[in-house]
Amino acid sequence: MRAIPYQEFDLRREWKEGMKSTKYVIVGGGMVAGYAAKELVNRGLKSGELAIVSSENALPYERPPLSKGFLAGKDSEASILINSLEFYHNHEST
Ligand SMILES: Cc1cc2nc3c(=O)[nH]c(=O)nc-3n(C[C@H](O)[C@H](O)[C@H](O)COP(=O)(O)OP(=O)(O)OC[C@H]3O[C@@H](n4cnc5c(N)ncnc54)[C@H](O)[C@@H]3O)c2cc1C
Repeated sequence: MRAIPYQEFDLRREWKEGMKSTKYVIVGGGMVAGYAAKELVNRGLKSGELAIVSSENALPYERPPLSKGFLAGKDSEASILINSLEFYHNHEST
């Protein structure tokens, strides 16, 4: 199993080190990327079939709570993630 936290993801390094091809690539790591990954897993995505290319320094998260609870300190960072870090690890998405 292989997964890279987005903060450490370097596409050039990955390609140089021989990143395997993937069946699906999602460009952009926003809300829809998180929900698309979840739906693909529900539909039987196999390990290593998905890469999400993102310049964000966070996993895909819900935007609406930013202005409703998160900035006021009512929501935690973990509670606004669409999928946990373990989800990406378990399904070997990069
Ligand atoms: C503070 C806040 C409150 C909100 N509240 C509500 C609400 O109450 N109700 C509601 O319906 N909606 C709300 N929204 C809007 C909602 O969050 C968006 O509709 C939703 O995030 C859209 O999801 P998305 O994945 O399409 O876009 P985003 O979540 O914006 O994700 C797009 C991703 O693509 C990346 N990207 C863009 N261009 C490129 C590129 N050229 N190359 C690589 N990556 C790229 C971006 O960096 C980003 O990671 C709110 C938004 C914010 C910011």
